[in-house]
Amino acid sequence: MPPTYQLKIIIPAGGVGARMGLAYPKQLLPFGKSTVLAHTVDLFRPHLTIVAVPPDHRRLFEAALPRDTLVVDGGATRFDSVRLAFAAFGTIFAPIKDDDLVVIHDAARPFFDPSWLGPACDLAFEKGAVVFASRATDTVKLVGEDGVIVKTLDRDKIYLAQTPQIFKAGLLREAYAKVHLNERPTDEAALMEQLGIPVQIFASGPTNKKVTTAEDLPLLESGSLRIGHGYDVHRFDASRPLYLGGIAIPESPGLLGHSDADVLLHALMDALLGAAGLGDIGQWFPDSDPKLKGIRSTLLLNRVMAALAEHGYGLENADMTVMAQVPKLAPHIAKMRAALAARLGVAENRINIKATTTEGLGFVGRKEGIAAQAVVLLTRRHGS
Ligand code: MG
Repeated sequence: MPPTYQLKIIIPAGGVGARMGLAYPKQLLPFGKSTVLAHTVDLFRPHLTIVAVPPDHRRLFEAALPRDTLVVDGGATRFDSVRLAFAAFGTIFAPIKDDDLVVIHDAARPFFDPSWLGPACDLAFEKGAVVFASRATDTVKLVGEDGVIVKTLDRDKIYLAQTPQIFKAGLLREAYAKVHLNERPTDEAALMEQLGIPVQIFASGPTNKKVTTAEDLPLLESGSLRIGHGYDVHRFDASRPLYLGGIAIPESPGLLGHSDADVLLHALMDALLGAAGLGDIGQWFPDSDPKLKGIRSTLLLNRVMAALAEHGYGLENADMTVMAQVPKLAPHIAKMRAALAARLGVAENRINIKATTTEGLGFVGRKEGIAAQAVVLLTRRHGS
């Protein structure tokens, strides 16, 4: 018969992010559509959860959490916060049954994969105490106070403790009753160790990272990557001005099209829409729409970028190639690139524009028109 137990979740969110150099607690950093803390709390739905928050910032934290979240004042240390939250379960509800499991998880560890919870809890039900930990990948040195290596530790036996830390409630209650509070353990695993209670490792991967220092901030910005490709061709029309890559090139004949016929921006927009799975510019801006007659493609690009932002996408980089026998594009590339980077809100080194002739071959070589290709990479924010 499968084990039957309930989970009680404790999320200590007491730290105020001193190591981040932030003006506000790191748990409240934006992440996906909400914050690191709200995202972490959400990982454990529908289990009963208590979040321990810094009393001085309680209102700020409550505002950042869904309204049905149970919040209690945390203590001076993480250890105290967990202890207070554990006690609060007994005060707010009936005392936790000895065989139920208490799951303690860092507020600043939002990348935890909830599908690990079931197997880890089954193990905790069997063993009593389980701690997520990742195997050391770097060689670990024991270093003396003088900065000199004392010895190299056996990496195969080194694990870095993470959370969740999962305990049978009866065991945790017993441990709290015995602990000397003048020597607070750093975490509940250390508490069990102090009392000689075996703690089992649950090997987790390196993805279960904690957001600790400013260097970790890019983790919150990273997300899934999406690639897109675009291709477009327009024929020359000497009666029109040439717009290419968003800029005017007055010395050249223009291109025929319903809009300003900026073939490079059209390829770019198709790549952007393609990467986001949003179709193509033909669907977005049909050439049967009289409102779009003669419109600058820069305005269409603005609309595409707004749509991407709405869907949680940001541009990593774009690489484009213009195929034209005429005009000579080399003198215009730098201006094109700078203007496009500014419009897209990215650094210039993320926008690359190349030009090539086709050595007199094909329609480009016969100077009948210009072709363009674009490849883009988008990042989709976590939780979007
Ligand atoms: Mg076109």
